[in-house]
Amino acid sequence: MSEAYDVVVIGAGNAAMAAAMSAHEEGASIVVLEKAPKEFRGGNTRFAGGLFRVSFQKREQIDKVCEKNGNPDEVNMPVYTNDDFYNDVQRVAGGQSDDELLRFMVENSLDAVQWMTDIGVNLNYNKLSALKKDADGRTDVPKGGPVRSVGDGIGLSNDWFDVVDKAGIPVHYETAALDFVRNDSGKVTGVLVRGPEGERVIDAKATVVANGGFHSSPAMRTAYLGQEWCNVKIRGTRYNTGEIIRAAVDRGAEAFGDWSGCHATPIDLDAPQYGDFELTDKTNRLSYPFSVMVNLNGDRFVDEGEDIKFNTYAKTGRAILNQPFGVAFQIFDQKNVPYFEPRYKTGKPVQADTLEDLAKGIAERYKPLEFNVENCLKTLEEYQKAVVADKEFVPDMKDGNSTKGLALEKTNWALKLDTPPYLCYAATCGLTFTFGGVKTNIEAEIIDINGKRIEGLWGAGECQGGFFYNNYPAGSGLTRGTVYGRIAGRNAATYAKRNA
Ligand SMILES: Cc1cc2nc3c(=O)[nH]c(=O)nc-3n(C[C@H](O)[C@H](O)[C@H](O)COP(=O)(O)OP(=O)(O)OC[C@H]3O[C@@H](n4cnc5c(N)ncnc54)[C@H](O)[C@@H]3O)c2cc1C
Repeated sequence: MSEAYDVVVIGAGNAAMAAAMSAHEEGASIVVLEKAPKEFRGGNTRFAGGLFRVSFQKREQIDKVCEKNGNPDEVNMPVYTNDDFYNDVQRVAGGQSDDELLRFMVENSLDAVQWMTDIGVNLNYNKLSALKKDADGRTDVPKGGPVRSVGDGIGLSNDWFDVVDKAGIPVHYETAALDFVRNDSGKVTGVLVRGPEGERVIDAKATVVANGGFHSSPAMRTAYLGQEWCNVKIRGTRYNTGEIIRAAVDRGAEAFGDWSGCHATPIDLDAPQYGDFELTDKTNRLSYPFSVMVNLNGDRFVDEGEDIKFNTYAKTGRAILNQPFGVAFQIFDQKNVPYFEPRYKTGKPVQADTLEDLAKGIAERYKPLEFNVENCLKTLEEYQKAVVADKEFVPDMKDGNSTKGLALEKTNWALKLDTPPYLCYAATCGLTFTFGGVKTNIEAEIIDINGKRIEGLWGAGECQGGFFYNNYPAGSGLTRGTVYGRIAGRNAATYAKRNA
């Protein structure tokens, strides 16, 4: 029996669900294809912290987004303009982000999150990322990250499945899209899938690709990111293996963006190989701006205090991967502890009353890695001598407390390690998602090498290239998925209606 829909959506993450719901609003018949079994559904979205980067002109606009779940009197929040958002992405991308795609995402970010809440997804103020409260006990929500889904990524994913279920949209589990079916003129008319009963074709007037990136394919990681990425730990889903991105490119879509780049963060050295629904994003080790971070040789290898963590965390995983055995040790004293991310509670630090004992304790705990105690102590001694600490310590803004005289300075939050007991958290690189994908335009149409749309095909979310290069400002991935998923679904449905 043949199966036919107006719109087929490939994937069941944030971008896919936004596409499915906006196609539904246009009256289309839809099916969602999820490669994972039901218990592992939801893609990277389900592992996410649930932070959305959103620009807004007036505080009340965010209050409205959060009105179902939050109390505006409990938070302070600086305005974050479209220019702020645009400039933050371009700054960390070295100006390479596609101007038009990025601007469209930024300018539609507020409207998109408001739409999500209007249709039943729960968002609230992002209190979790805050580092401090004001004198009246109000939480200072960090600039640029105003909202978070209730229940983080798990809550977000559950909300999306509830919303889609209520709309009567079927989700086919364990059903992987393998390829596109096309007619003689190259127009996509359906999808070849592999499901529990074998291979079959699902006919569709319009197809939305929302299958995430290729971070879970060791073959694609090695081919595009480089050989050192072959065995890296994965922070999220094991199902984003990129085959449908490759199929799109093989059928003429332009491969676009930073195919050698990815989002990769410091995570607990003991984190599992793939994302875990108990831990989700809680394996992150992102308080390193306050630490002295050394590799197995005992050498520092980055300016830990280059910027606030939101602006460096997505590239610091790569920096760790490039160290011997891809390992780093974050060393703190008790002055840092109040500013630890709560997720450090999931780790087991090495602890000691002197720096010498701490270094020995690291060597003992991680014996097979042969940590260089002597050189670590030399590095720490040089660091201590170079600390100036002539400014007020401000945890959530660059405070200018820099070392002076080191070959590699720590340029902010550089305080002496002088308050025992000292702590060390061991970290490695955790790959979050890949940056390369297919080219789309602002209508989310997938574009071929000649700049022409591939008829019948739209793309949204991680599978879209051209946004992020080298680095990434937190919260932009979910926002991109909602903005472009929404537009992809709407356009696919309108196209299907026109071609009924
Ligand atoms: C630990 C962690 C924390 C994060 N925290 C945040 C955060 O706080 N804020 C933020 O903005 N971003 C965050 N991100 C990134 C963010 O989660 C992703 O960028 C975003 O969820 C991607 O959404 P998506 O819909 O494009 O892809 P996904 O959510 O990954 O969905 C892809 C879907 O496609 C399915 N699929 C794949 N291949 C096929 C196929 N061939 N056929 C059928 N289905 C297929 C997958 O099973 C999955 O359901 C985080 C990611 C991780 C891993």
